[in-house]
Amino acid sequence: MTQPLGGEGKLLSSVDREIGFYYDRFRFPQCLILKNMVGDFLDGNNSQKDCRLLVFTDLDGTLLDHESYSFEPALPALAVLKDHDIPLIVCTSKTRAEIELIRVQLNNMHPFISENGGAVFIPRNYFPHMPQATREDADYCIIDLGTSYSRLRGAFKHMCTALPGQLKGFGDCAPEEIAHLCGFSLSSAVLAKKREYDEPFLAKDGVSWELLQKIADRFDLRINRGGRFNHLTGHHDKGQAVLLLRDLYRQQSGDLRMIALGDSHNDLPMLEVADYPILIKKQDGSYDSSIALDNLILSPGSGPSGWCETLLDLLSDLGVKC
Ligand SMILES: [Mg+2]
Repeated sequence: MTQPLGGEGKLLSSVDREIGFYYDRFRFPQCLILKNMVGDFLDGNNSQKDCRLLVFTDLDGTLLDHESYSFEPALPALAVLKDHDIPLIVCTSKTRAEIELIRVQLNNMHPFISENGGAVFIPRNYFPHMPQATREDADYCIIDLGTSYSRLRGAFKHMCTALPGQLKGFGDCAPEEIAHLCGFSLSSAVLAKKREYDEPFLAKDGVSWELLQKIADRFDLRINRGGRFNHLTGHHDKGQAVLLLRDLYRQQSGDLRMIALGDSHNDLPMLEVADYPILIKKQDGSYDSSIALDNLILSPGSGPSGWCETLLDLLSDLGVKC
């Protein structure tokens, strides 16, 4: 049974202690931002001191294992981020509902980016001066960057008509089918279906991407080819959402540097704008060939193990005690 918070945010239930900690810190996030100062940055040059770090991460195939969806191998690096109050910002193709569950499991109270940059969710009172939001609810200021799901579904139906039997979208699938396709539990599949800005879809081998793109252009939409699913979206991407958040942090904390981690083409816009882009190796040992950046860091390992090892190495190089 849930116990009430004590004076110092203490909880009597061990299960709820994690959740309680989450909400306790949630109240004073601006203090965390001010504390995130990395001294002796890079080569010890004084001009680089006191830079703040932000870490943006994809989930599937990056922080989460491609098959098991576990982030357990990443725990050592997650602990370092927490110890140094370095914000970890989830930036994924997943829905708000899916991310909220994972954030509780991660004990994470920072802003997040849903559905490939479709929206930025900022916990209320996170920044001393909150930005102008598109809308607000009890928990977040929400900045919409994406196209509505109903409009995406309308365009996707045209694609299915042009390429009969070759495409299948989330909106066409029952939760049971999504659970089977993704290896999700039924409850996770229900959360995954709560789309707001992105229609994930499967395409058969040999499908005409040129024709699909032509139809997408007609509706002023975009196709992103992802690791497990492809995505039909508006003209938003992870990079725009990352830059929007970076500017908000800058208003609060001044100069800062961004680390970004991803494994697929839909992560490219996020990796392009990062100071330290990290490409995570895929489970089959390959790297996404569509991602080529001069400053790209390749993870030696795949999934959350590669995430952890590469991030710890980089943080150490940047002067963070690991
Ligand atoms: Mg991924």
